Amino acid sequence: MEAKMSLSLNNFIQLENFGHSLRAPSYRFRPTSPEEICEVFQLADKTGLTVTARGAGRSYNDAALNGGGIILDLTAMNRILEWDSATGLVRCEPGVTLEQLWQRVEPEGWWPPVVSGTMKTTLGGCLGANIHGKNNFKMGPIGEHVVGLTALLPTGAEITCTPKENIDLFYGMISGLGILGVFTSITLQMKHIESGLLEVHAWPAHDLHEHLSLLLDNAPNYDYIVGWMDTMNGGKSLGRGQIHAANYLHGNEDPNPQKTMQLNNQILPPRIFGVFPKSILYLFMMPFANNLGWWGVNTAKYVASLRRSVFRQSHAAFHFLLDYVPNWELSYGRGGLIQYQSFLPKETAEAAWREMIDLSLRRGLPSYLGVTKRHRPDKFLLTHAVDGFSLALDFKVTDSRRAKLSQMLQDFDRIVLNAGGRFYFAKNSETSAEAARTFLGEQTLLKFKELKKRCDPNNLLESDLFRRVFE
Ligand SMILES: Cc1cc2nc3c(=O)[nH]c(=O)nc-3n(C[C@H](O)[C@H](O)[C@H](O)COP(=O)(O)OP(=O)(O)OC[C@H]3O[C@@H](n4cnc5c(N)ncnc54)[C@H](O)[C@@H]3O)c2cc1C
Repeated sequence: MEAKMSLSLNNFIQLENFGHSLRAPSYRFRPTSPEEICEVFQLADKTGLTVTARGAGRSYNDAALNGGGIILDLTAMNRILEWDSATGLVRCEPGVTLEQLWQRVEPEGWWPPVVSGTMKTTLGGCLGANIHGKNNFKMGPIGEHVVGLTALLPTGAEITCTPKENIDLFYGMISGLGILGVFTSITLQMKHIESGLLEVHAWPAHDLHEHLSLLLDNAPNYDYIVGWMDTMNGGKSLGRGQIHAANYLHGNEDPNPQKTMQLNNQILPPRIFGVFPKSILYLFMMPFANNLGWWGVNTAKYVASLRRSVFRQSHAAFHFLLDYVPNWELSYGRGGLIQYQSFLPKETAEAAWREMIDLSLRRGLPSYLGVTKRHRPDKFLLTHAVDGFSLALDFKVTDSRRAKLSQMLQDFDRIVLNAGGRFYFAKNSETSAEAARTFLGEQTLLKFKELKKRCDPNNLLESDLFRRVFE
């Protein structure tokens, strides 16, 4: 195939993580075929530069950054190659986004089995991190729904992996952060749905103990469960918040499924009250992006959530709440934000998170947003999941806070590791090599290194995260 991409090193640009807290100048290439990816590997080999695969760049940390190296931007490889609405099997190029995918399959009665809190992510990025959804306790991560994939190795070999073929690479590349090879096609099994709506139950949690008990006790009765936590109030109220749990509708529970599954019943409106464009809403959030402003927002939200309620909501509205306000992350200002997500066994989560939230309040570095989920373990090599819960915390970064925040997150790491917890490589930007060794274990690291040597003997595939955690 004739290469359409320019292969000279002249496209040197500044790239950032999703939270805009990190920057990395890199040479960007945007291939449209596996052949063009191959050419980039050859160029890297010749020039001594390293290569990082990048999807939509929605990772909160340095997973898709490569300071001084090459970025392989896969967003142009975004064709849905095959879709079978009888079986729900879909084969896609890696740059297809969750948004493209659900909009294609939903009107025909299917939904992606696992989605992230934003629909802007690509399938390649979702497999690289092995994302989880609000149904992780039931459906596992996205990797459990991959029927097969092809990947290009830096050696130039294109391999096929399924749960039965090249098994160690299947479980290593999914969760492998683009360090073993680059996905070139992904076949996924969609979930059959009978309605475009979910039935959502919402109820308040008055403290941390109740919050975690509600997640634990209710998860078995629902398809999805998620909690919002007010992380700005301590004492007896620490951990208070709201739980949302949702079920698919079945049979004739939805009298008009053909209508509710139409795209115009799913797509999030571009204007608030039909008037204000949502694209500028983040500007109005900026004055509140400080400790006092977010204390007010959290307190008001908690008061508003005290009443139990049951309502119906479209799949898109339930899953992609964070997409309601485009560019909301910019409201955090110039320094951006860091998201710190810890995964803790159900037996130790309460004490550990009490200690962490207490610490953040005492140090004047509260998290402005807390989100909880219920999880179960999985078999992928660099798994982040546990039989327990996760808590994602968003911290504002400023020049004056950066060093104190970094110190506090290292203190958090110690608390999490002592409590038998794990971290997620799509979120935390502080996790050290030592912390990773503790939660992954020597055996896992040896296995990962052995796969790395086999797939990429010249170490072409690297990222800032790889150098931070695995080298
Ligand atoms: C608002 C928001 C909400 C989120 N909610 C969730 C959530 O609910 N659950 C969850 O699990 N995560 C969540 N995330 C994190 C996000 O899903 C992951 O970071 C995901 O990996 C981002 O996909 P991406 O296409 O942007 O990938 P990128 O960030 O560009 O890359 C992620 C990783 O995948 C690798 N990669 C990318 N493409 C390929 C490829 N073709 N082949 C091999 N490797 C590749 C990269 O090298 C990198 O290591 C959220 C992120 C945001 C911003």
